[in-house]
Amino acid sequence: MVPLAERYRDRLPLTGATPIVSLGEGATPLLPAPRLSERIGVEVWLKWEGANPTGSFKDRGMTVAVSKALEEGARAVVCASTGNTAASAAAYAARAGIPAVILQPAGAVALGKVAQARAVGARLLEVRGSFEEALAAARELARRGTHALVNSLNPHRLEGQKTAAFEIVEELGAAPDVLALPYGGGGNTRAYSVGFEEAGAGVPRIQAGEAAGRAATVATAIRIAEPAHRAEAEEAVARSGGAVVSLMDEEILAAWRELAGLEGVFCEPASAAGVAAIAKLPPERGARVVCVVTGHGLKDPEAAARLAEAPVSVAAELDAIAEAAA
Ligand SMILES: *Cc1c(COP(=O)(O)O)cnc(C)c1O
Repeated sequence: MVPLAERYRDRLPLTGATPIVSLGEGATPLLPAPRLSERIGVEVWLKWEGANPTGSFKDRGMTVAVSKALEEGARAVVCASTGNTAASAAAYAARAGIPAVILQPAGAVALGKVAQARAVGARLLEVRGSFEEALAAARELARRGTHALVNSLNPHRLEGQKTAAFEIVEELGAAPDVLALPYGGGGNTRAYSVGFEEAGAGVPRIQAGEAAGRAATVATAIRIAEPAHRAEAEEAVARSGGAVVSLMDEEILAAWRELAGLEGVFCEPASAAGVAAIAKLPPERGARVVCVVTGHGLKDPEAAARLAEAPVSVAAELDAIAEAAA
């Protein structure tokens, strides 16, 4: 497959000298969602970003950030992360043959993401503090010049992430009426806004679903008290005519169950916040809505085990099994 960075080379900050580090990211499915559409009364499409190589949209930005870091002579990368950035940075660093240092807030990271970073050999440091403290330390290491910072404060990340908007416009032939997505640090909201502007087909109204609890939510991927991109993200949402929608955990989990049960799409809880945002604040009937489903359900198997039906124990006898199966 053609790497995302090659496909959109003319719209990304790449030169002939940039060594492209790719795991086959991007070109993710845009799935029609007929049963959810019926339920909500709008035409729902799902941009399934869990289909990226490490299971989240972070890979779109990481291919560009790590490629540029290599071009600029970096010998290691660093990030602070609640999980998916870490899993992605670790994989792309391994692919590039350089070390990755991950600063993660102690106890706040879902199991699958830690497993991913460990498996590819990242150096994981559990910081006994908040995400914000871990990020400040990562920025300082980058300032000292020993490590390239690959958090979304790295502008190359957002450049890569904007390509999802290009794909949506190419596939639908136009921008949708509404784009709905989770709002954590706000980098992705910003990236989509830029991407739609650059695609030249109009910017949809952006409905950004944030966890009302922010620092205390089941949706670990958006468990961020102080969004790094708050000003630009909320300005982009307002300019689009959309809204930031504040969501209770129960509303996010209801959308998470519907995505799985009605459409067969198993995502991590935070990834359902876009769907939850349109369920809570439905656009006009028949509007065309793309919901960005940001990460895979296998990232957070403990959430799935806790929140979904438990298996039923049954004797190894046909009658008992037939009765239980009915
Ligand atoms: C990073 C992430 C988000 C939040 O994106 P921001 O750019 O921080 O707003 C949402 N969902 C998943 C699965 C993520 O990994």
